[in-house]
Amino acid sequence: MSAYNFKDFDAQFPDDAACLEFIFQARYAGHTCECGHKDCFHRRTKRRAYECAWCGAQIYPTAGTIFHKSETSLKSWFFAIFLFAKSKNGVAAKELQRQLGVTYKTAHRMGHKIRELMFA
Ligand SMILES: [Zn+2]
Repeated sequence: MSAYNFKDFDAQFPDDAACLEFIFQARYAGHTCECGHKDCFHRRTKRRAYECAWCGAQIYPTAGTIFHKSETSLKSWFFAIFLFAKSKNGVAAKELQRQLGVTYKTAHRMGHKIRELMFA
């Protein structure tokens, strides 16, 4: 983990779609649809959703996660988590605000959620 740097991060997660795909794979890899098909889900563009090619059932990979209902882009969330993972002493809200270009309020809330995840 310590060798994983920003260049690696940026290559792995170039955009929100890559982040969503990561969440989808982490939670739904090998998922069998209610219609009985497997590996049948494809991305619905413009929504954070995947859809079964056979029956149209939809999956929202971020449902029930800290990313759901957040206006903040997935890439910003992932980058914030990256910063936390790289830091021994946590990341101050001010620092998140500066690195992500979000408001202090948003940075504070994100930091709080990530800390809950990592240290709960
Ligand atoms: Zn289906």
